[in-house]
Amino acid sequence: MYDAEGFDDGPPCPECGFEPSRRYAYAEGFEEHECPRCGWRSDEQALADLRRAAGDLLEGDGAPSAPPLGRPLRA
Ligand SMILES: [Zn+2]
Repeated sequence: MYDAEGFDDGPPCPECGFEPSRRYAYAEGFEEHECPRCGWRSDEQALADLRRAAGDLLEGDGAPSAPPLGRPLRA
């Protein structure tokens, strides 16, 4: 269980510009920021970066092409 202390003096939210964001200072020596208005969290941004990096490794399996159309309609 992390031991964090919260302060209302974080940097402006990169998503909606609200300030100050909520700053959590952990006893372990790192910080997280959370926006009280839109819910942005600095740790979720880091997770999103990790997911995007993992997704790049999984790309390469192209979707099957659409089946060809039937005979063109005749008047
Ligand atoms: Zn925000």
